[in-house]
Amino acid sequence: MSCVFCRIVDGDLPSRTVHETDDALAFLDANPLAPGHTLVVPKAHHETVGDLPPEIAGSVFAAVSAVTPRVEAAVDADATTVAVNNGAAAGQEVPHTHVHVVPRFDGDGNGPIHRLFSERPSLSDAELDDIAAKVREA
Ligand code: 5GP
Ligand code: ZN
Repeated sequence: MSCVFCRIVDGDLPSRTVHETDDALAFLDANPLAPGHTLVVPKAHHETVGDLPPEIAGSVFAAVSAVTPRVEAAVDADATTVAVNNGAAAGQEVPHTHVHVVPRFDGDGNGPIHRLFSERPSLSDAELDDIAAKVREA
């Protein structure tokens, strides 16, 4: 099996596991963006958020909710950025869905995830209405 997170779930690769449920596992990121940077993964292999069966999606977010305040407490963080790189074009490198829980500190200077986007589109009301309709109908 080549998926690194499946291998961690199966115990074939070591990890610093911090939380485990029937459907989800949380462990420290090997190359942390901040002390306490944690990844929460479904135990079953699903590549993207949209691939998650609803009950697994619920279990993963329940694990995120459980572990986030513990991570903040452990490293005395002021906040966390909770984010998913969902698909290769969004920067996902490991093709097994994972939620990043990254501790944040007052004055850390890293900004909100909005900072990822240097240019924002200017969309009319009609364009926004059209997009919303397409999402509803998709
Ligand atoms: P992505 O870019 O796919 O959203 O993030 C993948 C994350 O997985 C990176 O932050 C990287 O440091 C982490 N990572 C990759 N391989 C391993 C590993 O073998 N063990 C752990 N704990 N983290 C890993
Ligand atoms: Zn996997």
